[in-house]
Amino acid sequence: MHRLERLLEGLPEQPVAELTVLESAPTVPGVVRVEIEGRRTKDDKSQLVVLVQANLVLECQRCLGALVLPVDRQTVFELVRRESDLGDDEIDEEDLGQPEKIVGSPKFDLCALVEDELILEVPYVPRHEACPETLDLDAQAEEQAGREEPLSPFAVLSQLKTKGQ
Ligand SMILES: [Zn+2]
Repeated sequence: MHRLERLLEGLPEQPVAELTVLESAPTVPGVVRVEIEGRRTKDDKSQLVVLVQANLVLECQRCLGALVLPVDRQTVFELVRRESDLGDDEIDEEDLGQPEKIVGSPKFDLCALVEDELILEVPYVPRHEACPETLDLDAQAEEQAGREEPLSPFAVLSQLKTKGQ
């Protein structure tokens, strides 16, 4: 079983979910859905269209709370036969927007490819757009500014206790 260890290394603990066949994007963290389509282009190139969908749990770098990042990433790869067909690492201007080349072979590691796709989606500094803690504080302030909350029986009890001492 492939545990996506390179991805998990940089992330907080992810929930464990049941293994299921998903017809559409997962709605909970802990599951990665992958859809792969092979196709041949007009100029006779083999391509892989890889769709990766997941909900990654990240740690917000501002409030350190959990942050769920929905991933829905589609990438087109061009399959080549040999390493030598990959070309040099330098990207020519005309290569921009072209599918990334990968060597298609029986040893081809699809899990590693999917993992790379997920890693590319993880922001360098993950942050909530608005941290929940700040939102809570705002809501509390608003509540206090508004109507007086009736005291809960426990609050009354604790007051009695203090008086009795
Ligand atoms: Zn946050």
